[in-house]
Order: sequence, then C-alpha cells, then structure tokens
Amino acid sequence: MSRSRAQVLAFRAAALLAVLSAIATGAIMAISNTRRTPEAHREALVDAGVRARMRVRPRMIVAQGDGGGAEPIGTVIPPADEVSWPPPLLNPEAHLRTAWDLSMGRPGAREVLFSFDDGPNPGTTDRLLRMLEQAQIHAVFFVCGWRMEAEEPLRTRARNILRDTAAAGHIIGNHTVHHRVLPQLTAAQIAYEIDHNADLIEEVLGERPHLMRPPYGAYNEDVRRHIVALHNELWLWSIDPHDYLVVGDSETVAQRVILGIANHAGGTVLLHDTHAWSVNAVPKILRWLHDTNRERQEQGRPVYEILDAPRYLEGARTRLPMIHAAEAQAQAQTRTRDAGHEPVDASVEPTAPPAMAVYDAGAPDPIDP
Ligand SMILES: [Zn+2]
Repeated sequence: MSRSRAQVLAFRAAALLAVLSAIATGAIMAISNTRRTPEAHREALVDAGVRARMRVRPRMIVAQGDGGGAEPIGTVIPPADEVSWPPPLLNPEAHLRTAWDLSMGRPGAREVLFSFDDGPNPGTTDRLLRMLEQAQIHAVFFVCGWRMEAEEPLRTRARNILRDTAAAGHIIGNHTVHHRVLPQLTAAQIAYEIDHNADLIEEVLGERPHLMRPPYGAYNEDVRRHIVALHNELWLWSIDPHDYLVVGDSETVAQRVILGIANHAGGTVLLHDTHAWSVNAVPKILRWLHDTNRERQEQGRPVYEILDAPRYLEGARTRLPMIHAAEAQAQAQTRTRDAGHEPVDASVEPTAPPAMAVYDAGAPDPIDP
C-alpha cells in the first residue's frame, strides 16, 4: 500500500470516527437529561462507554464540509526528536502535536483553564467579563481584530472591551484578523492575518500577543514557520463543546464542557465569547465545579482547580517532560514489537490514537443586539 493511499485511508477512518463520536455525543446528551448528582451523572456516562471515547487524542483535524461530511483540514506535525530543556518557549517549534498535548495540561491534575475565542464582541464579551470578575477567574481570550477596525460605533466598543479584558488580568492571544482558514491562504496572506491582528492588539494595549491559536486549529508549514519566526506560542484546546452548533442551548454547552472536564480530569476549555448561550453556560459550569468539589472534598477526593491563565502555562511547562517520556516509551515498545517480527500495518501509527473532530466558529458573527 502506498504511503499516500495509507494516509487517505487514515483520514477516512478519522473522519468516520469524528462523525460517530458526534452522533454518540448527541445521543448521550439526549438521554442524560435526568436529575442526578454530578458524580452519578458522570458514572452513568462512563458506564455508557464515554470514557473510552473521551480518551481519544487528536492527531488529525477534520472540519464539517458543505455536504455535512467530515473533511480533513490539517495534519499534525510531530515534535522534533531533540528538544532542549527548558525550552525558551513552551512550544518553540510551534508543533501542532505539542500544542494539543500542552492544552490537555498535566495528566490527572484536575486543572481547568478557560479560553474564549473570536471576540471582543459587544454585548457578550463584556457580560462574560463581569461573570469572570465575580468568580475571580482569569482566562485566555483569543481575539479577532476585524471589529477593532470596523465602522463606528463597533470599532470603539470592541477596542474598549479588549482594553477592559486585559485590564482585568486576562491573557490576550492572537486568533488572526478575519478568522480565515489559514492553509487556504498564501504565505503573505497568512503573515498579514497574524501580524496585522497583532498590530491591532498592540494599538489598543501597547503590547503584542504572545499566544497564537489559528482559526479551526487549521495549520500548515507556512503557518508554523510564521509562528516560529514571531517567537509566538501555538496553543490549542482539549475540551470543545462545539458551542456554535447548539444555538441558544446553554444547558447542552455546559453539559458538554462538564463531561470533558470530568473525563479528562481537567484541560483547556474552548468557548466562544461571541455567543450569548456560550457565555450563559459559564455560570452553569462554575456551579458544577463548585458542587462537585464540595462533594469530592467531603469524600476526601482531589478537587478541580480553575487556574489563572499564567499559572496554567507554568503547569504546561511541567507537563512537557511527561509528554516526551511517554513518546519515548511508546517508541521503545514499537522497536520491541518490530524486533519480534510481528506484522505492522503501515497505515496505522503504532502510538497514534485516532482523530478528534475539530469544529470552530465560522465567519465573524453578526453583533449581538
Ligand atoms: Zn475561532
């Protein structure tokens, strides 16, 4: 079997898995709407086989195509063999795989980071800021600058919200100006989308962003090279409730995030501060964390912790050596198996888990009234 044919088959398998897991999620959400304690709820989901599904780690990225099918939009570039430690950056080579791993956080640590994409959006982002202030949480906001150079009054409102976001102690990341699929652009267009967004952020805050999250997680070598040249850090997410697909349903958004947090024992939550229902899900998620922590404390079990964004980055630094140790172990196992002359299917990476579907918000949203 040729290498390219093997890759096509792997992509098809990934797409199929993504669709199946989406169906499974919907089905489980539909049957889980009974009143249970959070722990009982989670146990029921685990019984239903959800844990196995949620352990899937992403290697390939697929997007929903026009016909509703899954289409691959990016592949994962594995980390280099030699990694200097400690690195000048968390992810100096801007490898997608490392970005995924970092987003998952320290294994079993129950540390939760909130990240919000696609703002600043008047009417939703400002409301979210008040919620986070009340809860004393610092998150990461990956912003798209197009509103900050739009017609008035949007331009000034968006700029003021960005200023308020940074002033409140949140971290501001780069999510490009127009939220395009970067691999579909030329290298010059990619550079513009990233650099001009940084310009707009600097105009408002006097500081350029350091974290970078490409729209849809879509990524190619041109994107990688540019992120490395800027000494930016690629950061993704590990818990994606696909909030833009459940329009007006903050309960489902919250349940999906809760499921992700419980099954992964923490990680980086992706929500869009451009949707009222995503913002409304935040207090529900915080309530669950509060309640489940109280129960866990009573039972003497470790609790979840919502991290300050800067602290979470430190946690990720601790996580990197564990990632590399796990990789080395997997490689050693592969060598042992090869030595035993067991057949190895070239279409399957021995240590690679199957893919996970990645969906993100589409074009810039209309402004909430
Ligand atoms: Zn986005």
